[in-house]
This record gives sequence, structure tokens and C-alpha cells, in this order.
Amino acid sequence: MFSGAIETVDVLLPVAVGSAYSYRVPEGMQLAPGDVVVVPLGPRNILGCVWPRDPAAVAKPVDPAKLKPVIRKYAAPPLSAQMIAFIEWMADYTVSSPGMVLRLALRHDEAAGPQRERVGVRLTDKRPERRTSAREKVVEALADGFLRPKGDAAREAGVSPSVVDGLIDEGVLETVTLPPEPAAEPPDPDHAVPELLPGQQAAADVLREAVAAHEFRVHLLDGVTGSGKTETYFEGVAQAIRDGRQVLILMPEIALTQAFLDRFARRFGVVPAQWHSAVGTKRRARVFAGVASGEVSVVAGARSALFLPYRDLGLVIVDEEHDSAYKQEDGVHYHARDMAVVRARLAGAPVVLASATPSLETEVNGRRGRYRRLALPERFAGTRVPRLEPIDMRREGPPKGRWIAPRLVADITDTVARGGQALLFLNRRGYAPLTLCRSCGHRIRCPSCSSWLVEHRFRRRLECHQCGYASPVPEACPSCHEPNSLIPCGPGVERLHEEIAALMPDARIQVLSSDLAGGVERLRAEIKAIEDGEVDVIVGTQLVAKGHNFPGLALVGVVDADVGLGHGDPRAAERTFQLLHQVAGRAGRHKLEGRALLQTYMPEHPVMQALIAGDRDAFYDREIGVREEAGLPPFARFCALVVSANEQHEAQRHAQALAASAPIVEGVRVLGPAEAPISLLRGRHRLRLLARAPRAFDLSNYVRDWMASAPRPRGNVKVEIDIDPQSF
Ligand code: ADP
Ligand code: ZN
Repeated sequence: MFSGAIETVDVLLPVAVGSAYSYRVPEGMQLAPGDVVVVPLGPRNILGCVWPRDPAAVAKPVDPAKLKPVIRKYAAPPLSAQMIAFIEWMADYTVSSPGMVLRLALRHDEAAGPQRERVGVRLTDKRPERRTSAREKVVEALADGFLRPKGDAAREAGVSPSVVDGLIDEGVLETVTLPPEPAAEPPDPDHAVPELLPGQQAAADVLREAVAAHEFRVHLLDGVTGSGKTETYFEGVAQAIRDGRQVLILMPEIALTQAFLDRFARRFGVVPAQWHSAVGTKRRARVFAGVASGEVSVVAGARSALFLPYRDLGLVIVDEEHDSAYKQEDGVHYHARDMAVVRARLAGAPVVLASATPSLETEVNGRRGRYRRLALPERFAGTRVPRLEPIDMRREGPPKGRWIAPRLVADITDTVARGGQALLFLNRRGYAPLTLCRSCGHRIRCPSCSSWLVEHRFRRRLECHQCGYASPVPEACPSCHEPNSLIPCGPGVERLHEEIAALMPDARIQVLSSDLAGGVERLRAEIKAIEDGEVDVIVGTQLVAKGHNFPGLALVGVVDADVGLGHGDPRAAERTFQLLHQVAGRAGRHKLEGRALLQTYMPEHPVMQALIAGDRDAFYDREIGVREEAGLPPFARFCALVVSANEQHEAQRHAQALAASAPIVEGVRVLGPAEAPISLLRGRHRLRLLARAPRAFDLSNYVRDWMASAPRPRGNVKVEIDIDPQSF
């Protein structure tokens, strides 16, 4: 042992390499595992977290006097033992460094500490000596004489805060200390308790009991679209609030719709705390602090909400659990649904996975009884879930250059004439997915990806949907320089809009996709307009398939049901089924009976057959059989290793070296290297290796051992590890 007087701690840093580093504890500083601290790393100071010492680790013989000292304790709530366990578990499972997982949990700033004092300003009788237009704007904005927070004054006047500071110094404005912002009202579990249908009631009772028992258990809330899954799981939420416990409701990001927040507010009197990328830093800081103190009892958030510092998590809900937006595919690759289950297990809390079209993994767990199934087979409004009627495009297709079959056009016209709304669904943003030269056959590609550029006519440019590259639409073919020879091929939603607008000049038509100028705010406004019946025909991408409730929607037309099929991706059938079933489920949710039409070139495909027959179980039965037979998840486990490099041959060489170094273990097969599903991305060539193992095998452990003995990537070569990849 070294001179016993000098204390040291291990600090985990949010960086990719190594585990925890040792630092010296300055005299008088009290530190415990979980504390967030500022420490030096090379020339910088960075945040880290005091980490429990691994009792098994052999202490490195370093003289503590030579260690760098911890600089200070950071004003942030410490990480709980549960969070530390979660980070370690997740790092282990995803074969990442714990530091990279910690990074997900340390994404906030010091404002998350105790609330800073707020300063208000108002006008005095003094006028500014120096007059500038910015100063005039402030005086004008504050002319009403009211007191307002300093930041608001600058914002309202549209000037920088320094202008306001200058006026304070001159005595034109006076400052007043404001009381801290009042804490939001907590949700009231008894604000408006709904009357539930018997089926809903039975499921709600189970959830209430599960929450009260405070035991880990996974529930599959399996309800048809429009059955009222939300109302049902709200009763579990209410129970958790009554018990003084916290609730996490995960949603695919875009589904954090105003409609959901409104429903929550109707049930509980206030909206829940929200956590997603569109929430500003200040508000995030407040939510973070509130979750840590226990003041915030319900968080509705995107996958990053898993890493908030819950004090006492009593229930975790994963809404639309099948949604692929839950899979994070850069940095630490993880599936938020699976991590939510782990988070809940560590907290000893029940989980609800809600969906009308569960993922195959979840469905199999339901069938095996590992998850408790709570079924809601009927729609709340009493209407039927629409069946999909096929339009065989081989016989009934539209004339050349058009995309909507005459029968669908007639149905849309008819629906609108009777006062209903129609949705044209096509999961393709922009005007046309491909631009082709009719003179030389050249296809315009992204200069740095293996994808076509997509024409966006509203924005008058070509865009790469992989990397965001954009260029104006060229006048002449970039290859043969023939002028006016470029033609758009295939439809995107903008092109459908053009087509339907020409056919129905008097209809109110709205495109709904993530491209909508004006961002989230605009999107919310448009969704509201649709809910309020101000739109006749919606032309939308998958954005409209997610959880919305459009009461007037009577007809859904799927323009290209085959888009997702036939890429050789074994998950394509599942994805297509889920998406189309969900889209069709948007129709007829209220009084109107809904209809859904499906334009397809392969009506005999088993996915189409299941959709047409309205037989969900038939789809799952068959798909589960296919997966089991072929040894695909969930009957096997996969891990993808994506090797990328600036030069194709470097990626190839390293991928081959990796393949050669794979440990030989019975039952494990390493496939590839082959081209990754996206073979060129942002100028990097990508190859993929797939390791496949039996279900019960610890594949993470295998890959970790493999990486430890594999040759290190050199130069710009990078290896990404993706456990449970989306495509295999
Ligand atoms: P799901 O999420 O299962 O597709 P929703 O939760 O969106 O279905 O419910 C469909 C509609 O029925 C919503 O407008 C919802 O407010 C309403 N609803 C469901 N259950 C009830 C209930 N018990 N009382 C009142 N309205 C309900
Ligand atoms: Zn690109």
C-alpha cells in the first residue's frame, strides 16, 4: 500500500477508450460513487462520474501522489446505484465501453443544478442617452411598464441580451429579483377517471395491481388500432402516481404528438414532462433536475429518456413498441425497447409494451408466456378495423405517368364528396426517388453515398436521404451534357400531391412528411388542421401511420404496398405488415366505418394475403415459422460488425482480417464480409460481417473476446458493433 493518507477515486469518463481512471481526491473533498465531477484529461477538463471500484480488478501500482486531482464536484444529481448498474449492463450487452454509455446519461449542463436566481426588468423614467434602433426596440417592447424576465425582454425586442444589459447599466431599466419559477402542478391521478369498456377494465386492473405490487414483469398490451390502449395504460400510470412513484412513457419521437399530450392532460389535469430532441436546453435542465428530485412524476420521452436519473421508477411504458425508431444506430447501438425492459428489471418495476402489431420478438415472448398478454380485441368506437381491399395494379393500374389507379381515384372523390377525409399513403419523401437522363441513361447519385438523389420539387433541389447532401436540379445531364434530358422517375408524396390536385382541383390537399417547412411546430399545426377536418385529402409518409387519431378519416389508399418487399431483407415482411396494418388502422376510428385500399403488383404475396384477409395471427404464424426454419431472430442471435474506411480496399482488408480472427466456437457462425446494406455512406465504404449464434448463447461475450484478440483497425478504418441488428 502507498502512503495511506492520500485518497484516490476511480472516475469513469464519457470517452470511447478504457474503463475508469484514477484521480487523487483533494483534501476536504467528500466523494462517493455516482458523484459527477470535473477532472483533467490531457489539456482539457471534462465531466466524469465517480465509479465503484471493481473488487476483482488488480490495482495498478501507481503512486497516488502522482495522480492528477479531481478539480471539483459538479452541481448535478449523482448517478444512482441503479443507473450505474444499468450503464454497466448496457455496455456489456452492446459491446461498448461503459464511458460511451455514460455519455448518454451525462448529456446535460450544470444548469441542472439548483435553480439560478431569475432577474426581471422594467422601464424607469429615464430615457436612453445613446439612441440606436436596438435600444429603441427594447424601450418599445417594454413600454407597457410590466415586469418581465430579462431574457424575455431581449427576446421580445428581438435584440441581444447585451443591449438589455447596457440599458440596465445606464439606468433606463431597473432590475428586480423574481421568485423561482413555480414548479409545475403534479399530475392528478383522479382528475378525470374515464369509464372503461369491460376489456379495457380487465387489462387496467392487471396493470394497477402490477404497479402496486412493484414487481418486474413485462406486459404486452396487445390491442387493435383504436382499442384505447392509451386510456388503459393511463390507469397504470395513475396507480404509480398515487403510490408516489415515477413513470417513463417511451414513444417513437415523432409520436410525441400534441394529441397525446392533450389526452394526458384531459386524464391527469396537466401535460407530462417531455424529453426529446426538440426540447430546449433550459427546459431539459429543469426536467433533469425534477426527475432527480422526484418532483417530476411522469416523463414522456424519446429513447434518450431511459437515461434520466429516476429516483423511484414504478412503471415503464413503451408505446408502439414495434417501431424501428427505437433502434439507435450510431454511437452505442441499442434498442430502446429492450433497454427499457432492462431498466425496469433493475428498478423492480412492471413494463407495458403496447402495440397493435407487436414486433416478432415480442409476439414470440407473448406466445411463450414470458410476457403477459393483455388483449383488447375491439375498437372503442365499436367500428371494425378496416380490411385491406387489393387493387391489382397489373390489371387495374393507372395510365402511364400516373400512380393512382382509377378505382382509388373514384373512391377518394366519393369519400370527400360525402364529407370524409382520405389519406394517400406513400412512404417516400420528395417528388421522385430517381432522376434519369433519357438520352444516355445516367442516373444521378449522391457523390458520397451509394444512393440516388431524390428530387424535392418544393425546395427545388436534389437531396441525398442518407447524408443530407443537396444540389440544385441541373439543367443538363451531368454525364452527357444533353440539355433538358433529365426526367424524374417514380413517385414521391409531392408528385402524388400534384396528381391528385389535378384530378380534384377543389379539394383541400395537404402533404404530411418530415420535410414540411417550419419543422415540428408546423407539423403540429397541420396535424391539428387534419384533426379539425380542415383537410380533405392527406398525402403522407410513415409519419401519418404513427399513432395519430384523425376522427374524419374514412379512406386510406396505400399507393405502393410493395415498396418495402423484395430487397432480400428477412425483416421486410414484418415491417411491411406492421406499417400497412397501422396505416389502414388510421381509418374509421370514430363513427364512420373505414375502408382501406392497397395498390399492389403482388396480391398473392403472403403479407398481402394476411392484410387482405385481416388475419393478423395468420401473418405471425407464418412469419414465426419462416424465422424458426431459417434460424433467424428471435430463434437465433445476430451481431453485425460494420467495417468502414475511406478506401474500399482498406475496408476489405480489415474486414477479411477480422473474419480470419473470429474465434472458433461451436454453434457460432461468422458470415461475410459482404457489402453492408448501405455500401457507401458519407464517402466511406462499408462492409459487414454477421455473427450468428443460438438463442441462449452469450453473443456479446463472444464478440468482446473476438475484438480483444482481433487486429486493431488502423488509419481511418472503423469498426461498429451492432448487436441485434435491424437487418440480418
Ligand atoms: P389505440 O392507441 O389503441 O390505437 P387510442 O388509445 O388512440 O387507441 O383510442 C382510440 C380513441 O378512443 C381515442 O380517441 C380515445 O380517446 C378513445 N377512447 C378509448 N377508450 C376510451 C374510454 N374508455 N373512454 C373514452 N374514450 C376512449
Ligand atoms: Zn449522400
